[in-house]
Amino acid sequence: MTRTDVLVVEDEVEIAELIQFHLEREGMHGRLVHSGKLALDMVRRSKPDLVILDLMLPDLGGLDVCRRLKQAEGTRAIPIIMLTAKGEESDIVSGLELGADDYVTKPFSPKILMARIRNVMRRNKGESDDVDRSDRIVLLDGRLVIDPERHVVTVDREPLDLTLTEFGILQYLAARPGFVRTRDQIIAAVHGKSTVLSSRTVDVHITALRRKLGAAGDAIETVRGVGYRFGEGRTALADA
Ligand code: CA
Repeated sequence: MTRTDVLVVEDEVEIAELIQFHLEREGMHGRLVHSGKLALDMVRRSKPDLVILDLMLPDLGGLDVCRRLKQAEGTRAIPIIMLTAKGEESDIVSGLELGADDYVTKPFSPKILMARIRNVMRRNKGESDDVDRSDRIVLLDGRLVIDPERHVVTVDREPLDLTLTEFGILQYLAARPGFVRTRDQIIAAVHGKSTVLSSRTVDVHITALRRKLGAAGDAIETVRGVGYRFGEGRTALADA
């Protein structure tokens, strides 16, 4: 089996080397580049399995690198995890909307970064971003079931009375637990299922959805300044 090849785009050498150290320890191969332009050259020469991308780079910024990789046919499928500084929420939102898979805020723990990498790699193996919309989703140890074909959501086997929009939002978030979605991504995903949806109405729908989910409502987490995600479900329902 070939080792997972990770391209680390980071101009702070110490951080880049720290990441490389942990990648190698996990049995992965880490290539380092210190600028955005070099990153694009490097990807063109040899496609990595994943890119860890700092947003603040000396020449070509991380968001531009992300945009170029996600716009080009040949590199679109390469997963990207952004490295961001605190307070860069609007850049995180832009990056996610450009197609980045995830982000980690500095200062980060290498352990968390490695977990995110494994998570992204696992999800990109068999699943494309277009999760089959007719697949049943079973979460929270089987206590939450989303059945798109019958259009039914149950918590502890009790069916919930959801609107089309609430159902669409839940299905979209639950399709990829742990991954943050921005409000615009949510709007795009449920487009057509609802007449008018704006950033603010997304919040209103989420509030209603959480209430209807009852004990499972905590699983829909707010990521401040960025959006929402379906939590991994370890803590949700614990006290139910
Ligand atoms: Ca930097």
